[in-house]
Amino acid sequence: MRTLSNAEFLELWEHGCRMHPLDRALAAIRASFGPHETAESSAADWPLGRRNRVLAQVRMLYFGPSLEGWMVCPQCGEKLEFQLDCREIAEAPSPESPQSVSVGAGTYRVPTSRDLALLAGEADAERAVLQLLEHCTLQKDGNNAAKSLTADAVDEIAARLAEADPMAEITLGFECPVCRHASQEGLDLAAFLWSEIESRARRLLSEVHALAAAYGWAEATILAMSDVRRAGYLRMVHGMAKA
Ligand SMILES: [Zn+2]
Repeated sequence: MRTLSNAEFLELWEHGCRMHPLDRALAAIRASFGPHETAESSAADWPLGRRNRVLAQVRMLYFGPSLEGWMVCPQCGEKLEFQLDCREIAEAPSPESPQSVSVGAGTYRVPTSRDLALLAGEADAERAVLQLLEHCTLQKDGNNAAKSLTADAVDEIAARLAEADPMAEITLGFECPVCRHASQEGLDLAAFLWSEIESRARRLLSEVHALAAAYGWAEATILAMSDVRRAGYLRMVHGMAKA
């Protein structure tokens, strides 16, 4: 893995703006690996647990291991802050192969980003789960088509797939200090990382704007400066603005 220059970081953001959220996460992974490191397989076909472990590594590379965010208590609306060490995700052991489970007559593989992308237009959660299982069915015959599964069978398959790929979903436990409601909330690491990339990109643009307006320097020149030097000039520009 490699760190991105400021210019590469802005390029990643610029291209990602036009992408689906799932593809943005994959673009961040691709940008952070050299061409040889990702040649083995497309990240779109990785099990979601592997994608999340690598996303956590990318997050550490760009922003460090300590992740801070907040969620809303589903019962009373209180803002609940959380802290997460990305090393817990990045360094979680890979599950033993095979990454598939057999339930009843069917065998199902763990989902990938490509499977999720196929469901992007499905607003109904139940139908989305059935479609996902349909994509992930390895052995098909007339009787074990996903749409003929009972609700209990769907729950069992989902639970077994979650065991087979434990990092596919990152869940955080909360207890609300106001209403004492205890809940488990999922963290969408891909969306979280992209929101951080977006805010750093916007900050870089505003810094380029301030320095270009003050000194007439080109964007490439400003982006090539070290963060320390850029911050030094910015302090002077803001000092001048106040004077
Ligand atoms: Zn609450």
